[in-house]
Amino acid sequence: GTAEPMLAIRDLHAWYGESHVLHGINLDVAPGEVVTLLGRNGAGKTTTLKSIIGIMSKRQGSIRFEGEETISKSSRVIAKMGIGYVPEERGIFATLSVEENLLLPPQVRPGGMSVEQIFELFPNIKERLTSQGTKLSGGEQQMLAIGRILRTGAKFLLLDEPTEGLAPVIIEQIGRTIARLKREGFTIILVEQNFRFAQTVADRHYLVEQGRVVDMLRNEDLDKNIDKLHAHLGV
Ligand code: ATP
Repeated sequence: GTAEPMLAIRDLHAWYGESHVLHGINLDVAPGEVVTLLGRNGAGKTTTLKSIIGIMSKRQGSIRFEGEETISKSSRVIAKMGIGYVPEERGIFATLSVEENLLLPPQVRPGGMSVEQIFELFPNIKERLTSQGTKLSGGEQQMLAIGRILRTGAKFLLLDEPTEGLAPVIIEQIGRTIARLKREGFTIILVEQNFRFAQTVADRHYLVEQGRVVDMLRNEDLDKNIDKLHAHLGV
């Protein structure tokens, strides 16, 4: 049988001030899945993640997480339910050390990774423990940003373009990390521009265009739908 969705979004709308940018997003994510949001710049992928974590001040529709409606809940309450957000800009504090950055977000629920487990996942971070946040490479900052969310106890992860601007060898490492998190039972929504990378890690892909989900592709069907994908992504 099909598992109940862990996250179910129905007819989601969102606004920045008067500007209406999401026009009815519908999508489901099953427990343990890795799902991507693919689409051009400005399609509404980041806004969808911000709506899920509750930081879009004006949003409407339904977002059910583990059966519970979250559309009117605060970001703090949503985080406590076990959803973690790693923004595109990563949010590493320049004046804090790596260790301080890692320890900064509060543990929202039991079962978060220990600092030792995060080091095991990202050995590079351990070597840089006393460095300032800004001294890290883009890849190290991304690993730190993911690592500190794992410490909070979140089990549903929203990753916004984790590979952006990174070297191929670092992108591979991020890919291996995502695969490992999936094996360990995490559920992930990944925003990606790089659909070749998306293909190496995801189970399914939602195509987002002008604030709507216009198609869903299973990973195994991606290659035979390459023309459709190119049309949507404009690549
Ligand atoms: P990108 O990869 O460029 O972030 P995206 O698919 O994630 O693309 P969003 O960032 O969700 O797109 O943007 C959706 C729409 O909302 C775009 O038209 C964008 O210009 C607009 N937008 C995004 N952030 C803001 C903001 N802070 N204020 C006003 N409009 C915004």
